[in-house]
Amino acid sequence: MTNPIVIIGTGLAGYTLARELRKRDKDVPLCLLTRDDGAFYSKPMLSNALSKQKTPDDLATADADKMRTELGAEILTQTTVTVIDTGTHNLTLANGKVLGYSKLIFAVGAKPITPPLQGDAVDRVCQVNSLGDYRHFRQRIADKKRVAIIGPGLIGCEFANDLISAGYAVHVIGPNSWPLGSLLPEGAGLAVQAALQNIGVHWHLGCSVQSVNSAGEELQLTLDNHERLAVDVVLSAIGLRANIALAQAAGLQVNRGVVVDRKLQASVTDVYAIGDCAEVEGLVLPFVMPIMHQARALAATLCAAPTDVAYPAMPVLVKTTSYPVVVSPPPQGAQGEWQEQILEGGVQAVFKAGDAILGFALTGTAVSEKQALSKQLPAVLP
Ligand SMILES: Cc1cc2nc3c(=O)[nH]c(=O)nc-3n(C[C@H](O)[C@H](O)[C@H](O)COP(=O)(O)OP(=O)(O)OC[C@H]3O[C@@H](n4cnc5c(N)ncnc54)[C@H](O)[C@@H]3O)c2cc1C
Repeated sequence: MTNPIVIIGTGLAGYTLARELRKRDKDVPLCLLTRDDGAFYSKPMLSNALSKQKTPDDLATADADKMRTELGAEILTQTTVTVIDTGTHNLTLANGKVLGYSKLIFAVGAKPITPPLQGDAVDRVCQVNSLGDYRHFRQRIADKKRVAIIGPGLIGCEFANDLISAGYAVHVIGPNSWPLGSLLPEGAGLAVQAALQNIGVHWHLGCSVQSVNSAGEELQLTLDNHERLAVDVVLSAIGLRANIALAQAAGLQVNRGVVVDRKLQASVTDVYAIGDCAEVEGLVLPFVMPIMHQARALAATLCAAPTDVAYPAMPVLVKTTSYPVVVSPPPQGAQGEWQEQILEGGVQAVFKAGDAILGFALTGTAVSEKQALSKQLPAVLP
């Protein structure tokens, strides 16, 4: 019997690739493995589910059985891959079973970075990077009122907006001078800060959380500026790091992600990577749009039509619904400067190198310029 194509991971990357593969080949044996329950959900919905009045169960739009039928694939849930032998094309699972593959795709995602905190309640700090994490978070905030979010980045700001819309008191803490500091220039960042403050967010910027201690039911946060905050729940959202350990142990080249070329091929034959775990030509882009482009290209490659992945400009919509933000950051290390225009109800910032626009950040009413500016941007990966 031919070994199947094996995809490790049933997040957006794994399932999108499987769907693209099935559009091209209805019959090739396909097996997906996941250490979770294999339910399909759209991860971006996790940070606006409260305002959309969606429960974790609503977000899981198909369970593993439904996905098996849809994809005509074997899906092994609650199954962790522990060892990969790329020489014999075999995987070992945590239950000791060995599984052969014809082609192997890493779609193992990323994991939240754990902040360096002291205190006796560090294990009560929540992180949300999966539907399972989100279920846990929803249980923790049920009947509670005050949430502290560590990290004023994209995910932190989106959760702040969402929690406020559901009636929570929200504190956001981080060392940056303004929110979305790694994405937005000052004027746009300050506009986001002011807009979210208007809906009730309490900002604690230019400082970090040092410790989290329990005080009965409450959690007591001490910041490095000696400020103290009493809250019910703490959510950490300080960034993600690609899951590379399994690939590294299998002898694949890794860096910030599993290193792959434009065909999404890793440093060893018949092994590929896509999604949050992949580093494509030096780019680790943990967003949905890159996954869509990767999945289409890789499906073609796996079906004997070798195809390079290409990325157009891919602006990211920050789901701070009370004050919309769209950003297309300039390439890392690009020479140039931000030029910001404060408009009525928004900020338009463009990153220019001479006459060329290499990136933009739009807030509030200025998001209407998204399409016009996107057309002027160079492709991320031509
Ligand atoms: C709250 C939140 C909001 C977001 N909002 C947006 C947005 O608005 N727009 C946007 O573009 N992006 C957004 N993103 C990012 C986007 O959701 C991710 O880029 C995308 O979902 C990543 O999918 P993935 O399949 O690569 O990884 P994951 O979803 O993390 O999937 C990884 C899979 O690998 C499996 N796995 C890992 N290791 C093993 C192992 N050893 N054995 C077996 N299985 C394993 C896991 O079980 C899981 O099924 C958001 C992310 C978060 C957390």
